[in-house]
Amino acid sequence: MEARLDLDGNPIRPITICMIGAGGFIGSHLCEKLMTETPHTVLAVDVYNDKIKHLMEQPAGGQPHPWVGRIQFHRLNIKNDSRLEGLIKMSDLTINLAAICTPADYNTRPLDTIYSNFIDALPVVRYCSENDKRLIHFSTCEVYGKTIGSFLPKDHPLRKEPEFYVLKEDLSPCILGPIEKQRWSYACAKQLTERLIYAEGAENGLEFTIVRPFNWIGPRMDFIPGVDGPSEGVPRVLACFSNNLLRREPLKLVDGGQSLRTFVYIKDAIEAVLLMIENPDRANGRIFNVGNPNNEVTVKQLAEIMTEVYSKVSGEPPLEVPTIDISSEEFYGEGYDDSDRRIPDMTIINRQLGWNPKTSLHDLLHSTLTYQRKTYAEAIKRMMAKPTAT
Ligand code: NAD
Ligand code: UDP
Repeated sequence: MEARLDLDGNPIRPITICMIGAGGFIGSHLCEKLMTETPHTVLAVDVYNDKIKHLMEQPAGGQPHPWVGRIQFHRLNIKNDSRLEGLIKMSDLTINLAAICTPADYNTRPLDTIYSNFIDALPVVRYCSENDKRLIHFSTCEVYGKTIGSFLPKDHPLRKEPEFYVLKEDLSPCILGPIEKQRWSYACAKQLTERLIYAEGAENGLEFTIVRPFNWIGPRMDFIPGVDGPSEGVPRVLACFSNNLLRREPLKLVDGGQSLRTFVYIKDAIEAVLLMIENPDRANGRIFNVGNPNNEVTVKQLAEIMTEVYSKVSGEPPLEVPTIDISSEEFYGEGYDDSDRRIPDMTIINRQLGWNPKTSLHDLLHSTLTYQRKTYAEAIKRMMAKPTAT
């Protein structure tokens, strides 16, 4: 591999990264990127490894992967495993991705959500601070909560002003709903972890970067219920809608699907993370929004585009009634609430790392739904053909 340079023209030194939550959606893409395009070593920590097995197993009958020896899997639960500190000490950088991060859990398993997103992150922050190790911590755009504009009357002209809805790392307030709306347990736990990391930086000199992902989507996100996850499980919207399309059932629009989201392709977002890893002087002490402000749609529009793209990918005509409305109470249960709109301000990441997302919503859905069909269509067909027990 020829010498790689950072954004300031300096050669990049190979490092060892302790990646916690490496077996998840984002972790699997980050491991893939680090193995195929960099000389870095990854100590991959997770309780599962299905999504990164392909990087560690030798291809059948073929040559070993060129990165053999640069990725090691450590199956451990960070809640209660004393090996964690040793792995952090052995590394130059720790990246913490571990979390419960599916909205269906926030109001139904609020204790697990708070423990996972706050309490379980504490030792990671402490070990990094005490051992002078750099930390890249994954937070969420959900810390912003609701937009200021959402509190104005529907037709108020100020709703059109960007400062009432664009989310800025250094200026926007974090507006969460009431405690009985347990949806906000996740955002609140993530926010406190961010504040703790920031304080460790200010008082003890911890070198940190905080990432706020805005709806990163793509292959390997979550699971398809009944195939590689529990039949009654509710994953995030990409997997919910993929599941509906694969089964030829209507897509469910929670409260009419009026909430707005911006979706970014996982492969674009991973480029931003690699820039953070390899440009510590530009990334340390920063909080970064990572999203694609150009890919904004309502959830209803997302359902319509996915239906159209899936029909092209599969050659199957769309259903006559492609979507149905469902109340949030029925879909998620009591205590659900929603972020109304999420547009990332890109000034800071642009200035510090020169990063911009590239992939349009249509293109990212085309490649993702091609993957979903290739990976799951046969398994779903077989499952649906099985007689159900009476
Ligand atoms: P994911 O659920 O696919 O990955 C999380 C991984 O962490 C899983 O593999 C899980 O097994 C592991 N994990 C959880 N608890 C653990 C523990 N106690 N010990 C060891 N491993 C544990 O989720 P993801 O989409 O890859 O998200 C990664 C991070 O990014 C999370 O912190 C999440 O809150 C944040 N995030 C992601 C998005 C997104 O768009 N995907 C949006 C906002 C925030
Ligand atoms: N949603 C929906 N139907 C589904 C799953 C989700 O209408 O089958 C909505 C959900 O209410 C939210 C949006 O899609 O408004 C995005 O949900 P996701 O689970 O991806 O997470 P979020 O962006 O809220 O963190």
